Amino acid sequence: MPYKFTFDISKTPRKFFTEIALASYQRGVHKVFLNTIKDSIDKFKIQEATGLNIQDALVLIQDLIDLQAINLMQRGKFLKTKKRALFLPHCSRKYMDGRCKAVFDANIPSYICAQCSPDCDVNKATKIAKKKGYDVYILPGGSCVPKILKSHRYEGVVGVACGEEVKMSLDLLSSMNVTGQSVPLLKNGCSNTVFNIETLVKTL
Ligand code: SF4
Ligand code: SF4
Repeated sequence: MPYKFTFDISKTPRKFFTEIALASYQRGVHKVFLNTIKDSIDKFKIQEATGLNIQDALVLIQDLIDLQAINLMQRGKFLKTKKRALFLPHCSRKYMDGRCKAVFDANIPSYICAQCSPDCDVNKATKIAKKKGYDVYILPGGSCVPKILKSHRYEGVVGVACGEEVKMSLDLLSSMNVTGQSVPLLKNGCSNTVFNIETLVKTL
């Protein structure tokens, strides 16, 4: 399920994400936590940059912090996993129309990237992850995740998606004893979405 709002924080300074990472350590101290989020939203002019109202901005930033905190908590366990998969969102393909030469195979289920564009982030991420030994899936939606996890016994999964989609898959992963790490989208909207390749490389 996508967010009910669209956002683009892909041009936000890196320092903002450093603050997000720091805030994730502070989780549990609710008042400090909420104040920290509001301070970050003000300092980095997130509302002006995204056009979000304060409520939606809070939801977005709180999700980023929560997911980062889960990444930190799960990191040690994830690093011990051997059989891993990367789930990429189809919305980050360079093209969403016939110019994308990927073919969807419903039996897997996944798009198979035909590598038509060297500057396509999905193509780049696929190559990097495969070199690191990951199985890679390019998914049209989170509903594909259960089918893949039931037919393969992955120990670790890295998922790139918007925060809402990631949160929906976390319970499933934990119920199947799969350790997850996530890379949230920095621009949503279900087409031409953006994630940070460097963050993905570090996470893999
Ligand atoms: S590089 Fe792959 S995913 Fe990207 S547009 Fe081309 S076929 Fe589609
Ligand atoms: S932005 Fe991408 S990951 Fe999020 S709901 Fe839309 S298609 Fe799925």
